[in-house]
Amino acid sequence: MIAKGYAASEVGGQMIAWTFDRRKPRPEDVEIDILYCGVCHSDLHQARNDWQNTVYPVVPGQEIIGRVLAVGSSVRKFRPGDIVAVGPIVDACLECAHCAAGEEQYCLNRPTLTYNGRDRVSGDVTYGGYSTGIVVSEEFVMRLPQGLAINRAAPLLCAGIAGWSPLRRWEIGAGSRVGIVGLGGVGHIAVKLAVALGAQVTVITSSPTKIEDALKLGATNVVLSSDERAMAEASGHLDYILDTIPVPHDLSVYLDLLSLEGSLVVVGSLASHGSIRPESLLRGRKRVSASLVGGIAETMELLQFCAERQILPDTETIAMQDINMAFARMEHRDIKYRFVIDMATLKAEMA
Ligand SMILES: [Zn+2]
Ligand SMILES: [Zn+2]
Repeated sequence: MIAKGYAASEVGGQMIAWTFDRRKPRPEDVEIDILYCGVCHSDLHQARNDWQNTVYPVVPGQEIIGRVLAVGSSVRKFRPGDIVAVGPIVDACLECAHCAAGEEQYCLNRPTLTYNGRDRVSGDVTYGGYSTGIVVSEEFVMRLPQGLAINRAAPLLCAGIAGWSPLRRWEIGAGSRVGIVGLGGVGHIAVKLAVALGAQVTVITSSPTKIEDALKLGATNVVLSSDERAMAEASGHLDYILDTIPVPHDLSVYLDLLSLEGSLVVVGSLASHGSIRPESLLRGRKRVSASLVGGIAETMELLQFCAERQILPDTETIAMQDINMAFARMEHRDIKYRFVIDMATLKAEMA
């Protein structure tokens, strides 16, 4: 399968059109015509080699919505024409204890990432969703439930599940007091999800311009992190905090907001947050954790929940050719709250 995509070919380089070969489909493979792909912060980091592990050329994209073109001889779950989704992981060993528990994202033998990963069979580099098509093993393809808008659902596959997984682990429900720190791609969906689960949601943000948005999204309270008095007043009032800030920061100011046995989980960030002083944990036996997206079953649960409740990310649709502009705007936090690429614009370029 010949695919066209947009790739970064050098450190800090621009995204440019690139034609490449997808792997020859295996019996368990699903060939997907990509319709939409979300633009995640990881895409930007990887394109610029911020994590020092990028293999160039890199084709980013790990929030994929598409239509099945063809299926291999052993595929049972999908047929041509099905609308499907693919997230940040396209393979795992499926034999280890973590895979057996449905937590393929934590595969003890390392999951295969959708891009900048290595195919488990051929060893070739994987290429992501900024392209016309992709070939994925059926175990890692999800059916998109009826009723979920295909042009907006893509960000659920990484940003959405990043928040959903910890909310479910904590069994968030009616009466849970949840704090969401940061109102970006992950944060804004997490607010919608926590509210839909019945939680009382407090948004903690550094930007006054987001107060109104947070309330519109369903938050009960908004606290400006720069407002020392408001932060002191909120102290000890939250049971759970989802920290979605993508850059290094001091966790202790947020730990102060937790009540007895409260938990703070860091999502959507690989940044170092420095050292945590035991003092900020011992006044209330508090916990700090971190979480990485979710497994396939849990992601399907999220898609189903969003279809039933009509929960969708707030998106701005762009053309593939606008990706460099989109990256620049993301750096300036000029997006509410997620870009989605309409892949018809890439196919038009080929015609
Ligand atoms: Zn495994
Ligand atoms: Zn992502």
